[in-house]
Amino acid sequence: MRDQANGPADTSSHSTAVRCTQCTKIKEMWREADRRNDVRVAETMTVAMGRHLRAAHG
Ligand SMILES: [Zn+2]
Repeated sequence: MRDQANGPADTSSHSTAVRCTQCTKIKEMWREADRRNDVRVAETMTVAMGRHLRAAHG
């Protein structure tokens, strides 16, 4: 699962900068899930990030 090494949902943007506290929170949760190889949570965070980006930054 190394294709997720850059974190959730940065695919639509070239920027790796964190945009807001919600982004930071989701990213932290994703990173923690990735660290303990919790694919389910990591995927959930990826979806949550995509949804959040559309809702808050779209
Ligand atoms: Zn955000």
